[in-house]
Amino acid sequence: MTRHHQPDPAGANALARVRGQAPQARANVRRLAAFASVHSCPTAAVAFAARVDTSRVLAGTSMEMPFGQSPFAIGRGVAFEALLRRYGHAELRRVLTAGLDTDFTFAAIENLREGYQPNRAGLRMRATVTRTRMAEIAGGPAGSAGPAEPVVLDGAVLAADIGGLPAFFEADEMAIGVGGQIIVGENKSWPVVDGKPTDEDALGAALDQAATYALLGRRTLADSGVDPACMSDSVVLVTPRNTGLAPSLHRQDVASRIRRIERLLSAVPDVQETAAATPASVTFDAVADKALPETVRLEAFGEVTDVLGRVYEPASCLTSCGFAWACRQALFSDADPALLGSTVARALPGIASLGRVAELGQGAPASPVEAPAAVPLARAGRLYSEVMPTAGEQGRRSA
Ligand code: SF4
Repeated sequence: MTRHHQPDPAGANALARVRGQAPQARANVRRLAAFASVHSCPTAAVAFAARVDTSRVLAGTSMEMPFGQSPFAIGRGVAFEALLRRYGHAELRRVLTAGLDTDFTFAAIENLREGYQPNRAGLRMRATVTRTRMAEIAGGPAGSAGPAEPVVLDGAVLAADIGGLPAFFEADEMAIGVGGQIIVGENKSWPVVDGKPTDEDALGAALDQAATYALLGRRTLADSGVDPACMSDSVVLVTPRNTGLAPSLHRQDVASRIRRIERLLSAVPDVQETAAATPASVTFDAVADKALPETVRLEAFGEVTDVLGRVYEPASCLTSCGFAWACRQALFSDADPALLGSTVARALPGIASLGRVAELGQGAPASPVEAPAAVPLARAGRLYSEVMPTAGEQGRRSA
């Protein structure tokens, strides 16, 4: 069940203060997935709760990361969507009919992308229409048997609760009436060549996206008193076949992804609790202030992470958090062992720097606080010397 509530004024004020003039981000599937990768980091958790767009806060500094789609990919996506909708959605009807074993030739297509304001009020209205139509068509409390003809909701909007705040998610299409079920569809413009996607990561992200919609669709049905099992465990991806734009449909079971996303959603920190626990000094305001010199902005970022703490994991941070270059640079400057990730950092308790790791590896005497890590480091150093003799030793051996 969803649990929409607005933050109390104190909580809302605290979050606005934390965000300051930092660009705001709307919760969407991509951001949820990115946050899932870094959710153990306190700085990332506060930024997510305050809806800070981490990919844009450091814009204009050398630590800004190059996130975003290429203009070419965006153009291809727009062209592919237009192709699917051309001539009364003829191509979309064709691929749904061919791929779902249900005749969509005369299906009613309800386009929810048109006739609504392109803002939050419009999304809320579309979510209401989506919910009503899903319940009516799939078989509402009155117990109708479902639609006589299949129906497609183009641009369905699903409401969700993310950490205690309402959010809206827009699905490309919902095909209703496929064997009495509803199936979510996502359109992606990257090609599938000879049956294989050219980008496995993009495929995984698209399936996660569609699985999120399926989960939210189930909750929407349940809220309306309709059996959530009406929402299919499988989703469809509509992609171009090979190098052209001719659409083809791929149906995939995403039951395990739905379960994982359910766990993820329940792990999102509660906005109210995060706001209450965030010290009053924490704000991204100066970090995002383009009028300030870069050094001042990066110092302000350092102050935020000093107060909140961070859990740096190279792989997930670099792909999922817009602060990764700034965090990596700060750790690099301090030669902090955390630069190598939390697993390595945990294995080096009491060791202040990577330079000290090297010294202990070469047998330097350890202080009491370094002692637990010093023994394995010295052993590793000896092993390394045996396996990788220095250039001088190698020369002596080959002479
Ligand atoms: S990049 Fe920095 S702020 Fe972002 S998740 Fe990693 S450690 Fe946390």
